[in-house]
Amino acid sequence: MMKKFLLVGAGFSNAVIARELAEQGYQVTVIDQRYHVAGNCHTERDTETDIMVHVYGPHIFHTDNERVWHYVNQFGEFMPFVNRVKTISQGAVYSLPINLHTINQFFGKTCSPKEAKALIESQADMSITDPQTFEEQAMRFVGKDLYKAFFYGYTKKQWGVEPKELPASILKRLPVRFNYNDNYFAHKYQGMPKEGYTAIVENILNHKNIEVRLNTPFDTSMKSDFDHIFWSGPLDAYFDFELGRLGYRTLDFEAFHDEGDFQGNAVINYGDEEVPYTRISEHKHFAPWEEHEKTICYREFSRACGENDIPYYPIRLVKDKALLQQYVEKAQQETKVTFVGRLGTYRYLDMDVTIKEALEVADTVKAQLKEHQALQPFYVSMGVGGIV
Ligand code: UDP
Repeated sequence: MMKKFLLVGAGFSNAVIARELAEQGYQVTVIDQRYHVAGNCHTERDTETDIMVHVYGPHIFHTDNERVWHYVNQFGEFMPFVNRVKTISQGAVYSLPINLHTINQFFGKTCSPKEAKALIESQADMSITDPQTFEEQAMRFVGKDLYKAFFYGYTKKQWGVEPKELPASILKRLPVRFNYNDNYFAHKYQGMPKEGYTAIVENILNHKNIEVRLNTPFDTSMKSDFDHIFWSGPLDAYFDFELGRLGYRTLDFEAFHDEGDFQGNAVINYGDEEVPYTRISEHKHFAPWEEHEKTICYREFSRACGENDIPYYPIRLVKDKALLQQYVEKAQQETKVTFVGRLGTYRYLDMDVTIKEALEVADTVKAQLKEHQALQPFYVSMGVGGIV
């Protein structure tokens, strides 16, 4: 007998799992409460300018994983795109991530790579041997002045807490380079889907064994209709927040139009604490192969996620981790539910990691079904293990 799968949330995680199961001949149902697929990666063309807009903020695809890169390229064309971010701090514009140009601009020097390394070491707090917090990581690897200019204000705005309360892992996302490479990412593959992310996810979901129901919130009565659920909504939401709410940050976007080119780059960050927004994205620069006379930009503001807001970033402070641990224990008892993705596993996952993990979940599910011909014996602990 074919098993019935319900996948709640039509982002990358569940699209990939749905597709993999559909290709094995299983009938799957994917629901999403929104009017579109692709979750927070959703893109759509602005009616006024026809520019492809990253509706929930900028997403740049980058990965080192061959399987993931090959996978996404089956579902749409990726155009060459390299993210080169600038940041404005105290009235000057600098190159990010911190590279030789940034260091020379900031200190008004013409250092060689070796000289820059020595300069940064003289700035850095070398007494920190094993940085635990964001602030320690910054003090150890870039020193106080660069930290204050580029990371302190931005991070306070982005996360709403002092950077010394945040884990070092957040800053480890950003490299520090002693050459002029200003590619924001260090991965082998980087690109932008020619027709946007939503088209990619729609293509993944376009299979005769997949039924997609949009504008359809999850209802607990659905549980009994399905043998297994893949849940990519917030982990705490699945349990009706019964133990309390995990902390998330949400984003507000203030859209505005202009003629021509507003800022000359896809993303410009604002490092100063006094500037209320964290960055401005100018969407047409994410598609440099297109031509548009007008332009649309988003000013991005971060704030605590309220009950009716869209969660974007799991915060993972000490208090969140304690609550998380309790939810993980509950999640582990749910043998008919697998929690996947950024929200389902409460981790700061990039798109490529999400897809990699979804493919691995699908591998496990397929292997289990083959072995047992039944759903009962299997429990996929993906993500849950990873979040403890
Ligand atoms: N960050 C910062 N200044 C910047 C850019 C990033 O302090 O100009 C810090 C900030 O805490 C941010 C983290 O580095 O949350 C990770 O940055 P990334 O650009 O990866 O964030 P995302 O694009 O995922 O929001």
